[in-house]
Amino acid sequence: MSDTLFSKIINREIPADILYEDDQALAFSDINPQAPVHFLVIPKKPIATINDIEPEDREVIGHLYLVAAKLAKEMGFAEEGYRAVMNCNPYGGQTVYHIHLHVLAGKPMGWPPY
Ligand code: C5P
Repeated sequence: MSDTLFSKIINREIPADILYEDDQALAFSDINPQAPVHFLVIPKKPIATINDIEPEDREVIGHLYLVAAKLAKEMGFAEEGYRAVMNCNPYGGQTVYHIHLHVLAGKPMGWPPY
């Protein structure tokens, strides 16, 4: 797949407020926050959408949630709660085609999400 903005963030070609990094994943603050806390957890592997996840990606996809929960605990909002969601394709609201887990916190979330 072609490079997206998020590959450029991984490669430090464009700036981001990076919160966490390891060999598989990166977390950074969303540039246009939709809640008092809003960051993205992305795999370093450039998977375009949820539909493109392969069986061998199971571990890294699970890892994104482990990173989200680790940061939630460290940042102090794990107990009051948060939303962790991935958008897929146009009807899901996806605009960057490198999968990313949105983590939103700091206020009660509504449901349904539209
Ligand atoms: O789910 P969706 O693809 O719409 O989410 C993309 C997210 O990436 C948006 O919330 C947008 O604000 C964020 N973004 C960012 N930094 C960029 C470009 C987009 O945090 N340089």
